Amino acid sequence: MSKILYQKTKSKHKKTIKAGWNPIRLTFAPGKNTMILFSNQKTAFATCLGCQDAPCVFFKESEITPANFDGFPVNRCIDVCATGAIRIGDNGLPLIDNEKCILCGACASRCPLGAIRLVAGRGAVIEVAPNEAFLEATNSDSHNAELMRNLFQTLPTEGVSLIESDDIVNEITSKIQKAAAVVGDQFPNLLTRNLLISSGNNAAISRKGNNFMRMDIVLSNTMETSGVVEVEFGQDANMEAPRDVLDSIAVLVSRYNWTIKNTASFIVTDLLPNRRSEYWHIIQDINNVFGIKIGTITIFCLMLLNWNRKKLILLKNHNFYADRAIDSYRAEVLEPLMQRKLKLNNLPNPLVDIAK
Ligand code: SF4
Ligand code: SF4
Repeated sequence: MSKILYQKTKSKHKKTIKAGWNPIRLTFAPGKNTMILFSNQKTAFATCLGCQDAPCVFFKESEITPANFDGFPVNRCIDVCATGAIRIGDNGLPLIDNEKCILCGACASRCPLGAIRLVAGRGAVIEVAPNEAFLEATNSDSHNAELMRNLFQTLPTEGVSLIESDDIVNEITSKIQKAAAVVGDQFPNLLTRNLLISSGNNAAISRKGNNFMRMDIVLSNTMETSGVVEVEFGQDANMEAPRDVLDSIAVLVSRYNWTIKNTASFIVTDLLPNRRSEYWHIIQDINNVFGIKIGTITIFCLMLLNWNRKKLILLKNHNFYADRAIDSYRAEVLEPLMQRKLKLNNLPNPLVDIAK
């Protein structure tokens, strides 16, 4: 995974918005261009502004570095895309390779005006064509372009980037398997980190080969509230995950002055363990004995929340907690967060529910 320096990202095709066209709302629709409503009641589709720092391609250092943990051996990869599908092209604008894209939505959710759309059966697509609301920016417009981008970040939005379906589940499952084989053993951690950051959390992963610090991801939305995430792909690995979380919490509390009360904990997995698995029992035991509620989330759930433009408030509550007492993860955890029923068939699918 390459690290590309910011100064290489200068766009030759920056845009700005015509005088008098003040954006007031963004509307997302699966597979379609994002529409911008302006205060003059005209609409135009979102097109790439050519941001100098390209937040759809690169994270800032502050997003990948924990605010609360100086000793953490940070992996400094700043790529937003865990599969390397998005990069800066020769014209300075982002380019997406659909062969590599797994539709995770991380890049799309970081574009302040929605110039990247998610197209089922294809991948993420970036819109660069001009339209009547956008003008080529001169150097003297740069400051205005930056102000405009900041304004987009604060606008109300409606709609979603992608709607789940059984076909999309199949498409994504096979794309993730392919990507994991190509990217290698850092893939689960990178993908998890990138989805957590794109949904509003600062998240840091440890450097490859560092055996000294064993936790996979630390979260630090504020100095006061922090979190630890264990990333486990493969059904067998899930069994060890709750014990690994306890181990990480013990290290952080005893050596780095974290407190149990202010440390949220999560396991991110590819598939939810089935009901007969000891996993859900251990999660319940840990809660009963230590009062530590370890949340469980699948990668697919993280994508789903990204597509629905839901920010994850991981550190504030126990939204993702589930144990052996739960009847349906989908109905009791996921759908309340989505505030709607999922458009998937009702068979327990380990991406979104606990099988019997
Ligand atoms: S796609 Fe969006 S975030 Fe990326 S450079 Fe273009 S406008 Fe900026
Ligand atoms: S949607 Fe995800 S996989 Fe596709 S280009 Fe964007 S970040 Fe990469």
